Amino acid sequence: MIRLLAFFLLGLLAQSRAEETWDVVRVGRVDYVTLASFLKFYGLKGSEEVNPQRSFDLTGSSGSMNLSVDSREMRWKGARYWLSHPVRQVNGVTLLPRVDLVKTFDPLLRPNAEIPKQPLLGVVVDPGHGGGDQGTRAARRLNEKDANFDVARRLVRLLDKAGIPWVLTRNRDIYVDHADRSKKASDRRGYIFVSIHFNEDSSRETTGWETYALSPQYAPSTSSGGTLIGDEDEIWPGNQFDHQNFLLTQAIHRAAVLSKSNAPADRGVKRARFKVLRLARAPSVLVEGGFMSNPREAALLKTEEYRQQVARWIFEGILAYKRSQEAPEESARLKVAVTETPQASPAKLEGVPDFRSKADVSDAAVAPGGAGQPTPVAPGVSRPEIPKTVSKTNPPVDSSAAAERNGIKTKENPVRKAQSGELEIRKAIPVTPGKTE
Ligand SMILES: [Zn+2]
Repeated sequence: MIRLLAFFLLGLLAQSRAEETWDVVRVGRVDYVTLASFLKFYGLKGSEEVNPQRSFDLTGSSGSMNLSVDSREMRWKGARYWLSHPVRQVNGVTLLPRVDLVKTFDPLLRPNAEIPKQPLLGVVVDPGHGGGDQGTRAARRLNEKDANFDVARRLVRLLDKAGIPWVLTRNRDIYVDHADRSKKASDRRGYIFVSIHFNEDSSRETTGWETYALSPQYAPSTSSGGTLIGDEDEIWPGNQFDHQNFLLTQAIHRAAVLSKSNAPADRGVKRARFKVLRLARAPSVLVEGGFMSNPREAALLKTEEYRQQVARWIFEGILAYKRSQEAPEESARLKVAVTETPQASPAKLEGVPDFRSKADVSDAAVAPGGAGQPTPVAPGVSRPEIPKTVSKTNPPVDSSAAAERNGIKTKENPVRKAQSGELEIRKAIPVTPGKTE
């Protein structure tokens, strides 16, 4: 009897150890986890055998996602998201970027797990630009700075009605320094920072809504095309809120692009190192609520109804985020654990590896042709052999996004990138014919 019990316990131990294991694989300079360990950990339905020519679905208790090999594009419950690096397939093994495991997938699949809640006590509303800084300009005298300000005023009226305290970073047409804007949020405990902008593109055809969270440490910005450009290692004050930044950003994004009426085209939840996002010591988001360079969206933005609609979408997103920070922690955790893998022990939910510091990473692993020295890994993480075929795919450096460091937005220009980059990188940038992204 005792022997039987011992066997049973040993069996349980072996099972839970297996479930806590992440298979980490290095491709070039980027760490990946295997799709198999991802499926197992989150109890998702989906095959680990993936056809690289087609997109694939993974379904869990809280929703389903759609991914494609060699693409950074991800769809989650009907909305579009951009991963930091493309999904890879090496020797038939499908791989997901490790930084996205921690900073994108985990907040979506376990929004209430482990990270302390930050109850929302107020909102710093930031109408972008002002004074001599006009921002984007549409035809027929519509300035971005004015549209931003008008939407901001409409938003604070909605917040007022809901009893949510707010502060504007500017209450008239003046220029306010980025640092001073962010400071308004840093100075107020429990406030979030919401920056309102409108977009422009060299093509008048480009339309739609994109919503930005600060790029996590070690993650390239979306505009970099998935390559590491050298500014990723730095950590900014805003990075301590990565989890909340992302939840807030996607809440606002979803409120707009999944709206039942007038929904703008979905350009995705993106990441960037905009100065206001870097500096705010508070959960932060930057909204690009449409293209003033597109005649149709510019015409819409000239109507009060549409500007009110934009303000309402942002407001609804803020409310959804607020609720997410009030939800009890246990419920969602159990939901993920129980519905999909009833046999699993709850202990496995503690096992998402922290994204470890680059200082731990041995350069030898990047050297062409060789697996190099074994790299130290976080506890509970096992590291299989690095496939030799992929250790040469070290992405070239693209310096174009360096301007972001100075708070200057760089526009995505995949066409130019595709021409300058090697085949590997061209494949990494999803280009839809007839679309400008
Ligand atoms: Zn702007």
